[in-house]
Amino acid sequence: MEEVPCCHCGNFFVPSPRHKNQNYCMNPDCRRAKKAAWKRDKMRTEPDFKLDQQLSNKKWAKANPDYWKEYRRKNPEKTDRNRQLQIVRNRRRSKKPNRASASDRPVIAKVGASKPNKFKPVGQYYLLPMIAKVDALKVRIYEISTSYQ
Ligand SMILES: [Zn+2]
Repeated sequence: MEEVPCCHCGNFFVPSPRHKNQNYCMNPDCRRAKKAAWKRDKMRTEPDFKLDQQLSNKKWAKANPDYWKEYRRKNPEKTDRNRQLQIVRNRRRSKKPNRASASDRPVIAKVGASKPNKFKPVGQYYLLPMIAKVDALKVRIYEISTSYQ
């Protein structure tokens, strides 16, 4: 049997003879990625499934009211990353045509607009790819004192 590359990890594997179109290897991370991709596709294509998931999530959130508050408290890095990514999602959403005008649309993350002349590129930033779907890269930008030069 011919080896094929896994869609998630890229390692070559031999697909199961019973599942000739297998695109993901048996690595637990890759199985999770496969399931997530399946769910994303189903959410996109089947409105009933999406509605069921949303209702289920709401029910769960009602039963666990402090979960996300606690999650954000325990994971400030992830919270910060999500905040940055939400800015990008809002920006992308605002660029899509045939949608409600910007004033009608709820903006989830709202940050104060900084004036270009006050922008000081020192601190922690995420480099966000705008075309390829890859993870954001966290970088720290330090100011080098002029006395060292
Ligand atoms: Zn894999």
